[in-house]
Amino acid sequence: MRREKRGRKIIVWAAIACAGVIAVLITVNLLSGSEEPEPEPVHEPTEAELMDVTGISLAGRKIIVDAGHGGFDAGCTGVDGRLEKEVNLEIAQRLQTRLIAEGAEVIMTRTSDDALAPSKEEDMDLRKQIITDSNADAFVSIHQNQYEEDPEKQGPQVFYAYHGTAGKTLALAVQDMMNYQLEIAEPRMALDVPYDVLIPGSQPSCTVECGFFSNPEEEARLQTPEYQEEIVDAIVSGIKLYYKRTGAGTEILEAPSGSTSTLPSLGSPAPSGTITAQATATVAILGGSASPAS
Ligand SMILES: [Zn+2]
Repeated sequence: MRREKRGRKIIVWAAIACAGVIAVLITVNLLSGSEEPEPEPVHEPTEAELMDVTGISLAGRKIIVDAGHGGFDAGCTGVDGRLEKEVNLEIAQRLQTRLIAEGAEVIMTRTSDDALAPSKEEDMDLRKQIITDSNADAFVSIHQNQYEEDPEKQGPQVFYAYHGTAGKTLALAVQDMMNYQLEIAEPRMALDVPYDVLIPGSQPSCTVECGFFSNPEEEARLQTPEYQEEIVDAIVSGIKLYYKRTGAGTEILEAPSGSTSTLPSLGSPAPSGTITAQATATVAILGGSASPAS
């Protein structure tokens, strides 16, 4: 009788203990199951490093700016119907203007809506040819991102080809600056995705996906001149950060003819709509149509 009671007691305690363990396991499972997958770690530069690129000169640097897509190839379509190729060109031309104001030489892969060739393959071949022939110091391709499965996704993301390359260093610098200057709440990380245009040439190359066209709020923001200027400002600062980190940006390669004197200071919004005749005249246009952008 007593042994039976003790046996029952043990069974009751064992049951309570089991229930406890199961409850803990369920809680842990529920918690981890309800969360997003762990985000990849973000490169964390110091604020002091990001704030101080003012001493870095881009004078005499040759930089290729590629407005992604064009013509028959519209790229992705925003939730309100805006075509990626159009916004890519707007941002690329603003970047062209800013870089020229910094004393850089800019090579545009396209300056109008036209593609470089009638087929995607030929178009890409011509872009790659421009990159190879340019012997440039850097290559930046402008695109917009899309992820229809999750319209909440937002923020700029920079891509490079292959670990251990100068392109990765450039992409990390541009990503860091965009995250910092655009005050991105959930910063993204630069990723190794070897797009075709990132391979040719010996210069560091990166593709900047400025934001998500699948996010209605961000798509609207990406079309405003003010935000486009902020993006361009961040990309320019990112290129300077690359030269700061690689120790190659302090010397003036070629004295700019007064082109930097009217520059807005870094971090302050640059005037919008600043595609100037001087900028167009200075730029080398290779391939594609050389007609002025509308
Ligand atoms: Zn694109």
